[in-house]
Amino acid sequence: MGTFIDTQAVVIGAGPGGYVCAIRLAQLGVRTVLVDKRWLGGVCLNVGCIPSKALIHASKLVDTIRGAEAMGVHVDGLRVDLRAMMAWKGGVVDKLTGGVGTLVRGNGGQVVMGEARFSGPHDLEVTGADGQRATIRFEHAVIATGSSPASLPGFDFDGDRVVDSTGALAFERLPERMVVVGGGYIGMELGGVYQRLGTEVTVVELADQLLPGFAADLVRPVAKRFRKAGGKIMTRSAALSYRREGDGVVVTVESRKTGERSQLAADVILSTTGRRPNTAGLGLEALGLEVDDKGFVTVDGAQRTAVDHVFAIGDVAGEPLLAHKASKEGEVAAEVIAGKAAAFDARAIPAVCFTDPEIATVGLSVKQARGQGHVVKAGKFPFAANGRALSLGETDGFVRVVMDADSEVLLGVEAVGPDVSALIAEAGLALEMGAVASDLGWTIHAHPTLAEALMEAANAALGHAVHALNR
Ligand SMILES: Cc1cc2nc3c(=O)[nH]c(=O)nc-3n(C[C@H](O)[C@H](O)[C@H](O)COP(=O)(O)OP(=O)(O)OC[C@H]3O[C@@H](n4cnc5c(N)ncnc54)[C@H](O)[C@@H]3O)c2cc1C
Repeated sequence: MGTFIDTQAVVIGAGPGGYVCAIRLAQLGVRTVLVDKRWLGGVCLNVGCIPSKALIHASKLVDTIRGAEAMGVHVDGLRVDLRAMMAWKGGVVDKLTGGVGTLVRGNGGQVVMGEARFSGPHDLEVTGADGQRATIRFEHAVIATGSSPASLPGFDFDGDRVVDSTGALAFERLPERMVVVGGGYIGMELGGVYQRLGTEVTVVELADQLLPGFAADLVRPVAKRFRKAGGKIMTRSAALSYRREGDGVVVTVESRKTGERSQLAADVILSTTGRRPNTAGLGLEALGLEVDDKGFVTVDGAQRTAVDHVFAIGDVAGEPLLAHKASKEGEVAAEVIAGKAAAFDARAIPAVCFTDPEIATVGLSVKQARGQGHVVKAGKFPFAANGRALSLGETDGFVRVVMDADSEVLLGVEAVGPDVSALIAEAGLALEMGAVASDLGWTIHAHPTLAEALMEAANAALGHAVHALNR
């Protein structure tokens, strides 16, 4: 006989969707059990956002030190110890994942480790790694099982020569040459890490630009810096197959422009061509719940699935597959379960690529705004005219404010440049508050800061940026 637990709410998956949901449920006085088969913190804390950003920071530090000669800083004997870097990254992850358990329990929630499977509309079977079983009877369930890397046909992950993002976060030796298949944000972020550490990186992307989905002028500074550092970019190109040769691999790539085939030799292939939702083996049939044609669980604005007492949040509930979207959906589901009137009605979800330089967007691009019927006015302000950016030696990029030409209501902000991941928060708040461009323009921004570029871009949209000519 296994353990029997009777609870008001069970949350399956302890990623940024599930653990946030469980904490909020417990805060609201709902008896809550959080279940995970592997770890606390999900992909995000263990093998996603956090470890990738730790390595991005460490590798940018190397780059910054190398580039500091122009500022009169000379460092001899700079050396990278990859093992030590990985250990430091592991320490960052451990601190955060340890905190998750403390927060859930500290708010009165319970944590059960094991693989969950629905066995009835109100019953969940959980099997621990040691084979121990628990049955959980619940009033409400929240599915927060996330997503996993999808492999490209012909490029099955083997953890050795063909790795996914998780493999690329744990190399023991620095690869000399790497082929990144898929130039989306994960491929470009991780490819960038190894390029800065000294690997020769080639990115193969099927679309006609890197980071498809972002406006071309946002991507250009990233591609330029990547190439300048010795990286190779092959767009409109398909990775067809690979073969092992000696200690390495040879990848066959076909140009979709010319039909020509070429061979790329490398030590390792990082394949980052997409992710698929985790629903297999979850026993959704016991709930009578179906998934859509891409495998996502469909939800309404309250995160409720087609089964009234079952909710879904995060990657498993659909695009965009981002941690902050998962967490906000988790808070909404918790409030709804606790009987509060809540809904996911965010005006905009920010998106950040931690490339070099960073790209950050929130709300509508110029193209999207026009597509929605707006007459658009946009204002662009270059970091080259921003004092703080100059003093940092980081002048590539710009901020663009997109507004409705008649009402001057902000529709979106797009930026590429230094620390725009931080700058986009203000833009998100402005959008949520329904701001007009002059709200940003009249807000006093401290000088000298990068955020002044946002204020100036808003004024540029209105035709009167101060530190750039308005034409
Ligand atoms: C390399 C990389 C970098 C990323 N960088 C960013 C970034 O900078 N910013 C950003 O916003 N997003 C980033 N993401 C995406 C982000 O990690 C995901 O959007 C986020 O983790 C989704 O959260 P989630 O709670 O939906 O699911 P997940 O984090 O995937 O967690 C799901 C959890 O469910 C558990 N689980 C699954 N099935 C079961 C089961 N049957 N029983 C019990 N437990 C189960 C899993 O073990 C896992 O812990 C990145 C992803 C990767 C791979």
